[in-house]
Amino acid sequence: MWQFESEVSQVVKQTPEIKTFRFPIHAKGVRYLPGQFFFLTIKVGGKDAIHHFSFSSSPTEKGYIEFTKRITGSDFSQALDAMKPGTWARLRGPVGFFTLPRKHRRLAFLSGGIGITPLRSMLRYIADKELAYDIVMLYDNKSYEDIPFREELDEITASYPSLRLENVLSGPDLPAGWKGKTGLISGDMLREVIPDYEERRFYVSGPPRMVISLESQILGLGIPQKQVMRDSFTGYD
Ligand SMILES: Cc1cc2nc3c(=O)[nH]c(=O)nc-3n(C[C@H](O)[C@H](O)[C@H](O)COP(=O)(O)OP(=O)(O)OC[C@H]3O[C@@H](n4cnc5c(N)ncnc54)[C@H](O)[C@@H]3O)c2cc1C
Repeated sequence: MWQFESEVSQVVKQTPEIKTFRFPIHAKGVRYLPGQFFFLTIKVGGKDAIHHFSFSSSPTEKGYIEFTKRITGSDFSQALDAMKPGTWARLRGPVGFFTLPRKHRRLAFLSGGIGITPLRSMLRYIADKELAYDIVMLYDNKSYEDIPFREELDEITASYPSLRLENVLSGPDLPAGWKGKTGLISGDMLREVIPDYEERRFYVSGPPRMVISLESQILGLGIPQKQVMRDSFTGYD
């Protein structure tokens, strides 16, 4: 495990509710795998407060670590939201086994909203290293404007032919002429978009209720549990 103190160097607003926070790396030997997470300590009301965060950055992005958070009304979120370039934090990691398989190359990524973070790390890594994975991704968000990393996901999809990204919109406001999927990801949608689902390893990430719901859709297709990797963001309802 590594640990170092750092300070916010950049904050990027991804959507009205979601922000990315960047921290320069101030230690040697800071390594992690895409999909892993770390512990962030910040000051909340003068006291140390710790939360887990998936790396939304990729190890191919050198010199800094980023995570991406849905800002809620909690004291922790509000303290985070108030952080400016220069504000102190401590980072400790890496932790977790929600990582890319070495041998199995056919994957299916399922997520919604903030659940994108470990998958963005993996996709950036795969694209930067030009790794030979074959990925179908279904990504559900309320509206087009609510899709974090939207432009980057489109750019990776355009440059990486063996990634197929299906954006799904679940809210009432669809962009004019929207031809994509709507509603929530269902078993029928999985069958249609991923006809070879039996051959794929599934990666599901997001708040616990979303992960439970998506996992039950996958298991309902007859996929064995061991073929499903989960990253559950406990702390959200
Ligand atoms: C492996 C992992 C990866 C995560 N990655 C991300 C990410 O990339 N982006 C993101 O936005 N969130 C992520 N989370 C969730 C994050 O750690 C926060 O819990 C969440 O953002 C809620 O924070 P809050 O400010 O909205 O509410 P808070 O009020 O701070 O938390 C809500 C309630 O949950 C409790 N709580 C907080 N964290 C946890 C926890 N980990 N386990 C159990 N209870 C907890 C608090 O004590 C509080 O009662 C991840 C969680 C885990 C476990």
